[in-house]
Amino acid sequence: MASSIDDVRSRERESRMKIANLKGRAVIVTDRGALDVAQSSSGRFGPDLQTLYDDWAAFRNFAATANQDHATEFDLAELHSPVPRPRQVFAIGLNYQSHAEETGMEAPLIPAVFTKFPSSLAGPFDPIRLSGDRVDWEVELVVVLGSLAEHVDEAGAWDHVAGLAIGQDISDRTVQMAAARQFSLGKSFRGYGPIGPWLVTIDELDDPGDLAIGCAVNGETVQSDRTSSLIFKVPSLIAQLSAVLPLWPGDVIFTGTPAGVGMSRSPERFLADGDRLESWIEGIGRIASNIEAPLR
Ligand code: ZN
Repeated sequence: MASSIDDVRSRERESRMKIANLKGRAVIVTDRGALDVAQSSSGRFGPDLQTLYDDWAAFRNFAATANQDHATEFDLAELHSPVPRPRQVFAIGLNYQSHAEETGMEAPLIPAVFTKFPSSLAGPFDPIRLSGDRVDWEVELVVVLGSLAEHVDEAGAWDHVAGLAIGQDISDRTVQMAAARQFSLGKSFRGYGPIGPWLVTIDELDDPGDLAIGCAVNGETVQSDRTSSLIFKVPSLIAQLSAVLPLWPGDVIFTGTPAGVGMSRSPERFLADGDRLESWIEGIGRIASNIEAPLR
């Protein structure tokens, strides 16, 4: 069952543990608004959100009991990426059967891993400036690590996750497919990795492995699926990546996109100046970007 953006909005009103980056300062998002982490912890945590991941268990303990009286209303447009400076950003290609089929490629037997260079990361409502005329959308579940994961087995993998967010793996298909494919470069133009709107802790979700996911261009839904359709699920990705290299606290995994990208449509359809791209995941919320013409 696809989830409409209205369903997602109504669920956003439920209280959840959300951590956001408000103008460069870590905040806990409550029903009353944003609670500044550094102020409310008397400087024990924050204000830099990235440093929280290195001390995540202690921060969670603090956040669970923080006095929310001083939370204040805020403007969603002032949110930055909830992961400002990850050491590593992993991304997974062809991780939904429906997407593999629409590209005409065989789903891989092990995860197809590339990187989005960290300078591509952006805030959840930042505009996206196009790099060319074949720039595509890819809504993805984003996983953020909350502790060092090295040679982790699947059974213990969720314990290393700080939380989940919505991401867009914006892709310049011309650059991506050039030079016998260079996924990492074609998906790393500045602003091509919006993440947000906040990090939601997994204990707040009924089933973190089965969430409705989708995106719309100018109000028309173009992708709609569930994260339970992932070929390599979050625990498998963490196990297989951490078998090769350490995953550090605050590292990011873009887990792959379902069917419905513009490149696979007939005719092809790409993002254009003036478009509005909205993305949502059940239990997390929504992000949205206005698309802007390339600089000439
Ligand atoms: Zn992708």
